[in-house]
Amino acid sequence: MECKLCEQIKANGKEMIFQDERIAVLLSTHPASLGHLIVLPKEHYTILEQVPDGVLAEMFIIANKLSIIIFETLNAHGTNVIVQNGVAAGQTENHFSIHVIPRRQNDGLNFEWQAEKASEDALKTAQLKYEPYTKNLLISAEAPTEQPAEQTEQKTETIKEQEGKTNYLLSNLDRIP
Ligand SMILES: [Zn+2]
Repeated sequence: MECKLCEQIKANGKEMIFQDERIAVLLSTHPASLGHLIVLPKEHYTILEQVPDGVLAEMFIIANKLSIIIFETLNAHGTNVIVQNGVAAGQTENHFSIHVIPRRQNDGLNFEWQAEKASEDALKTAQLKYEPYTKNLLISAEAPTEQPAEQTEQKTETIKEQEGKTNYLLSNLDRIP
């Protein structure tokens, strides 16, 4: 599958600031701030969930090294390392990427959200939703396929949520232009 970013990687133009066999780093042509970088897998993947673990690990290691370079060379006060995964999260290109954005005090950029203290109930609800998935997190991010004989209503709810999530993930593949 080809896309604008695949073409940009192949073109190997002046925006390319680093590449190895699997990863390319491009200067953003529409930067949030001067020096905004995009870390990309050379292989075309649309969303985070499709990227193999090894490639993802290398992407984040490179993003971290770029962040250090940004502090040193641009005298940045901070960096945002951002993944926009899916249309709802602001993803505009259908090629997965990590953005590394130089930040300065009062630079006027706004990636912040309104943080409100969660209730005990809300925290408990979220904890219960994650629980079936997080027991073997490093082996698999799937919920266990075997369900215990006596299924509680709670567990059924969890599975419904899981189906909803899967649909969103799949639908993202079509929605990103
Ligand atoms: Zn692509």
